[in-house]
Amino acid sequence: MSIAKLERETTGWDGGQDGIRHLRVVHDREEVDLPAAERAVRDLLLALGRDPSSPHLADTPRRVAKSFTEMLTPREFDLTTFPNDEHYDELVLARSIPVQSLCEHHMLPFTGVAHVGYLPGERILGLSKLARVVELFARDLQVQERLTIQVASWLQEHLAPKGVGVVIEAEHMCMSLRGVQATGSRTITSSVHGLLREDARSRQEFFTLTRGS
Ligand SMILES: [Zn+2]
Repeated sequence: MSIAKLERETTGWDGGQDGIRHLRVVHDREEVDLPAAERAVRDLLLALGRDPSSPHLADTPRRVAKSFTEMLTPREFDLTTFPNDEHYDELVLARSIPVQSLCEHHMLPFTGVAHVGYLPGERILGLSKLARVVELFARDLQVQERLTIQVASWLQEHLAPKGVGVVIEAEHMCMSLRGVQATGSRTITSSVHGLLREDARSRQEFFTLTRGS
């Protein structure tokens, strides 16, 4: 299973006076073999009784291989954190971060939103980065439960907040389009650490706010 790793860490522009920390976040997934993927899509079309040499499908293997590559390759980013100089100690919550992932059982998309909250410790985070952390793990063959746990654990490890919580609500195409055809049914998963797990008031606040609308 792939995880993110920290490649370098610098503190501030001038050697650390401002306390801003930039962590370069890269992924360690296998590179996609595009020509092999295109061949495999062509073979799949044949196996499905379709003719990949027909004009309508001629470019399909290339497009499909490219789409899967994009959906399985997270973008690198800098995780920028700042010292929590004001000692802010209330919940910070980013609601409705878009989630797009691929279920590992059917290779069909599941899409929805993530609500990610944390109780700051020594450091706070550029809020847009929470969406990048979600993407880091979503662009993979996934199950929603593992995705939820990975985002929460990664933030706990790299931000060291007093608590962190992740709720994901998603609709799975493998449930909507096939099988039980439960269109509109959303699966909800959650993972909480630290005070959001242990302190009843914080926990309740987090789950109330994630249910906000
Ligand atoms: Zn599935």
